[in-house]
Amino acid sequence: MDINNQLLLPEYIKKISPYQSGKPINELAREFGIESASIVKLASNENSLGVSERVVSALSKAKDIIYRYPDANGFDLKLVLSEKYSIPVESIVLGNGSNDILELIAMTFLDGNSSAIYSEYSFAVYKIATQARGASHIEVPSSNYGHDLNLFYKSITDNSRLIFIANPNNPTGTFIKKSDLIVFLDSVYNNYGSKLIVVLDEAYTEYLDECDKFNSFSLIEKYPNLIVTRTFSKAYGLAGLRVGFSVSNPNIANFINRVRQPFNVNCFAQLAAIEALKDQDFLDKSCYLNKKEKERFYNFFDSLGFKYIPSFGNFILVNVGDSNKVNFELLKRGIIVRPVDNYNLSGWLRISIGNSLENSLFFDSLSDIVRLI
Ligand SMILES: *Cc1c(COP(=O)(O)O)cnc(C)c1O
Repeated sequence: MDINNQLLLPEYIKKISPYQSGKPINELAREFGIESASIVKLASNENSLGVSERVVSALSKAKDIIYRYPDANGFDLKLVLSEKYSIPVESIVLGNGSNDILELIAMTFLDGNSSAIYSEYSFAVYKIATQARGASHIEVPSSNYGHDLNLFYKSITDNSRLIFIANPNNPTGTFIKKSDLIVFLDSVYNNYGSKLIVVLDEAYTEYLDECDKFNSFSLIEKYPNLIVTRTFSKAYGLAGLRVGFSVSNPNIANFINRVRQPFNVNCFAQLAAIEALKDQDFLDKSCYLNKKEKERFYNFFDSLGFKYIPSFGNFILVNVGDSNKVNFELLKRGIIVRPVDNYNLSGWLRISIGNSLENSLFFDSLSDIVRLI
């Protein structure tokens, strides 16, 4: 008997498709009999330099904190964030990764009678978090693989409560510049006030060139319906520890904190985030390397005649033709990249920009595969 027929789940839960994460190194090692140490993972946009030594050193001295509950209010980390960004402590919510924050926002604002808006080809978690609340989702067709904010505005309905925007976007790497975002925020706030929340997911913001960077936190004063989310998983290299945060109007932060489980960010994650924030050198090095290596990818794809989307993040979406075949051939050679069929982007693969050696191995393997097929 199929238990699925008996389970009394809400229909909206049954409709959720599982999130497809990058293949873990151990899994490839098991499946293909490849030595773990020789596998190159360019699938989850992790930091190719690893993590700051400062973080490693602090964690290795911190074993004595394991048996205590972590600080439920993350006082120390919030204080460092508050000073670094000149924002009130009360405007910050900490999350078990920014994924947690996105879910908490959905939990706070959505129910079965409301809807959330997000773009085609944008982060899969927006849809999952919306569906998990039984809310409807409005997927706005993309324009040139990025957000079409005019169409976003036109797609707003009476029951819309949340708008998710990833900037830079994942998996396409596109970017909305400040002036365009302001036009959008203006029209949303002028017409809907704080009845409609805009979530600006800035998971890759550290990778932006200086000329593109802007202080989104400072926009919250003018647009109290804006929530900005950030993560330590990407440029800061703490993906395995799970820590992210949001900045918003303190009243909004207060409600999000009510649905948050009190100990959602573990003690190592809090400590590591504090140390990571203090190591600007590591961050600068990571971003510099990313920029330099990104150029190598562009040149390489140009030489093969592959179409790619110029990226503002630490990954590139590239059209390789038969992406299933290419992906399989890469796996056989010990290289993990990210298929994006689940985003309706068949033919494309998303490649995280690794360190110089990893990228060279990827280029060699892909050249080899292109000759083969
Ligand atoms: C990676 C990513 C996140 C979530 O990362 P966490 O590890 O949960 O902090 C959020 N948004 C986008 C667009 C991402 O690519």
